[in-house]
Amino acid sequence: MSGVQLNRVTKDFGPVRVIHGVDLAIEQGEFCVFVGPSGCGKSTLLRMIAGLEETSAGQVRIEGADVTHAEPADRGVAMVFQTYALYPHMTVAQNMGFGLKMNGHPKAQIAAKVAEAARILKLDPLLDRKPANLSGGQRQRVAIGRAIVRGPKVFLFDEPLSNLDAELRVEMRAEIARLHREIKATMIYVTHDQVEAMTMADKIVVLRAGRIEQVGAPMDLYDDPDNRFVAGFIGSPA
Ligand code: ADP
Ligand code: MG
Repeated sequence: MSGVQLNRVTKDFGPVRVIHGVDLAIEQGEFCVFVGPSGCGKSTLLRMIAGLEETSAGQVRIEGADVTHAEPADRGVAMVFQTYALYPHMTVAQNMGFGLKMNGHPKAQIAAKVAEAARILKLDPLLDRKPANLSGGQRQRVAIGRAIVRGPKVFLFDEPLSNLDAELRVEMRAEIARLHREIKATMIYVTHDQVEAMTMADKIVVLRAGRIEQVGAPMDLYDDPDNRFVAGFIGSPA
């Protein structure tokens, strides 16, 4: 059973087709990276998996279940947003637990899940701080923590490191890779950064103008690209 399966997924914005019947199977527990130039449809595809954008045609399955028309909260997915989505007036613990609180989870259960996420992300000493008193990397951990507490089947990351400096990006890549090893959930990670794609992915999906150009393990794409576009994209430095 696939972690995420897309069958002929299509997206039209008004008269403009931006995703053209994409077929894709991502294995359960796989770390899959969507890569491609700006405007090729990476975010739109991710948002359709999350349920934040309706599909115009086709089907989205998560661990076998057809979620094409399911609400975002019912899909078993969690999207990691950039750090500016944190609530500035709430503590780290409150930020991480907020989604569960809104869904009516009991306080004790929220506290237990926040504690577990804090352990995984090494945020324990920071639980009472406000976002303004955190470093960029710590804020990014909190943003990831908000996803972890929900216990999703699938984590979706949309260029989560793009507003961090180069040093921090390297640190957070390693952090996300460690998270994946520890919790073994299916993860889809969007980036336009070839280095991130090559170093993090089990599977890379190369997108171009709303279509998949090639899918494969990083070294397969590197050694044996199907065409010049893939060769240029994977082979050139970020
Ligand atoms: P990427 O994330 O790869 O940069 P996007 O998924 O954001 O690309 O966008 C894919 C295409 O869809 C682009 O041409 C973009 O302009 C268009 N697009 C994205 N969102 C909308 C929208 N809400 N309305 C109209 N066009 C959109
Ligand atoms: Mg995008």
